[in-house]
Amino acid sequence: MAAENVDLFVIGAGSGGVRAARVAASYGARVMIAEEFRVGGTCVIRGCVPKKLLVYASRFAEEFEDAAGFGWTVPAPTFHWPSLTANVAREVARLEAAYTNTLERFNVSPVKSRAVIEDAHTVRLLATGESVRAETILIATGAWPHYGPKIPGLEHVISSNEAFHLSALPKRIVIQGGGYIAVEFAGIFAGLGSEVTLVYRGENILRGFDDDVREHLRNEMRSRGITVTCGHTVAAVEKFGDELVTHLSDRSTIAADQVMFAIGRRPNVMGLGLDKVRCIIAEHGGVAVDEYSRSSVPSIYAVGDVTHRVNLTPVAIREGHAFADTVYGGKPTPVDHSNVPTAVFSQPEVGVIGLTERQARERLARLDVYKTSFRPMKATLSGRDTRSFMKLLVDGDSDRVVGCHIVGPDAAELIQVIGIAVKMGATKADFDATMAVHPTAAEELVTLREKAMSYGRAAAE
Ligand SMILES: Cc1cc2nc3c(=O)[nH]c(=O)nc-3n(C[C@H](O)[C@H](O)[C@H](O)COP(=O)(O)OP(=O)(O)OC[C@H]3O[C@@H](n4cnc5c(N)ncnc54)[C@H](O)[C@@H]3O)c2cc1C
Repeated sequence: MAAENVDLFVIGAGSGGVRAARVAASYGARVMIAEEFRVGGTCVIRGCVPKKLLVYASRFAEEFEDAAGFGWTVPAPTFHWPSLTANVAREVARLEAAYTNTLERFNVSPVKSRAVIEDAHTVRLLATGESVRAETILIATGAWPHYGPKIPGLEHVISSNEAFHLSALPKRIVIQGGGYIAVEFAGIFAGLGSEVTLVYRGENILRGFDDDVREHLRNEMRSRGITVTCGHTVAAVEKFGDELVTHLSDRSTIAADQVMFAIGRRPNVMGLGLDKVRCIIAEHGGVAVDEYSRSSVPSIYAVGDVTHRVNLTPVAIREGHAFADTVYGGKPTPVDHSNVPTAVFSQPEVGVIGLTERQARERLARLDVYKTSFRPMKATLSGRDTRSFMKLLVDGDSDRVVGCHIVGPDAAELIQVIGIAVKMGATKADFDATMAVHPTAAEELVTLREKAMSYGRAAAE
């Protein structure tokens, strides 16, 4: 096959790859991008976007219930899963087309093919067998659900990929995992009416998050009828007709209609040809890169989940953009991975930025902790048994806010805005000097006066 020369070949048209391709092309680079599934990648096709739409759908159940306390009489609502999934699929297809159009506007035509690396400057398209020479190759292949050790009956288990396409809403579902995807899907299915059991091997859900957040959310999930079983794993799944029986490590069993695993995602490096070019894979399984996303092979870069740095869409986009600025825009741009705000679209939501209390205690000489748990105003009339939680962690020496943790309605929206203040280095005094907006939940963050705890030298004094 005739070799075609491009400046940049991008493997994977997801969040990071699309941004990098578009920005590189805007700087005048000749760019080719290959996508083996659908343009838009995980976020658009089977991640953030369809998931958030399901989250919205699942919240109506609570809204209908809460309405009664405000004087509304709502006839017994019914829910139709096929309508929801069809509508979500239509929106995903619209976004896929929009992403494709954007690429084409920048003269980047996505090639529908799996691409593999042949050498440091050559990529092969498996759909046609064609080899393409490129001065630079960008790996933006994302990550893939990991199913853990091969247990009996693993073939009956679905991942989040399949959860969007179930033909019927499961009446009962077992979800294994304690990370944000497991927790979010537990909330989605519970809100839509499924009986949900969450099984997690660790001592509590949301490992890596602040301990108070983990505890608070677990209690809220329980009060919404989700069974949270920690300290166990799924040992086997047996199928009897339409029913799946999940055997746990403590020998107990749970009968359900679906079993889903969300126990982690692995960088998509398998079969990419990285061994041929001796590209170094880091211990965590992702492509090892420097602060400019350059791999151990000078002509090969990698961005997004495949590098297993911070596996979030905005981070992949920022890394893709910074790569293009660095290589084609004449602006060497490292990506700052500190203080990345993040959310869990659980019910209620979680929004966090900065250090957890545990991390702050390890790193700071003096730490002041401010926290509050309160009944959201809406719950006073709805009668819902729910509480919100907020916590600020403050460096006792500099007064800087080094962590903010919220569990409650709209926590994701709140943390995006608070993220600006924390990133700018705002102090507790800055928070205190900010006038409250009343009546809101967020006003708690600027009216926290009593220290819940002081650690370090301050505690010893
Ligand atoms: C259920 C779920 C919910 C999520 N929710 C959120 C959220 O709320 N907020 C958030 O910030 N992040 C969320 N994420 C994470 C987010 O989706 C990822 O961090 C983001 O998509 C990473 O972008 P990427 O460009 O690295 O990879 P991807 O978007 O995964 O794109 C990689 C693309 O490469 C393609 N590909 C792989 N190998 C090849 C090959 N050899 N040849 C050609 N094409 C190839 C794949 O088909 C894919 O389209 C979620 C993820 C999941 C699974």
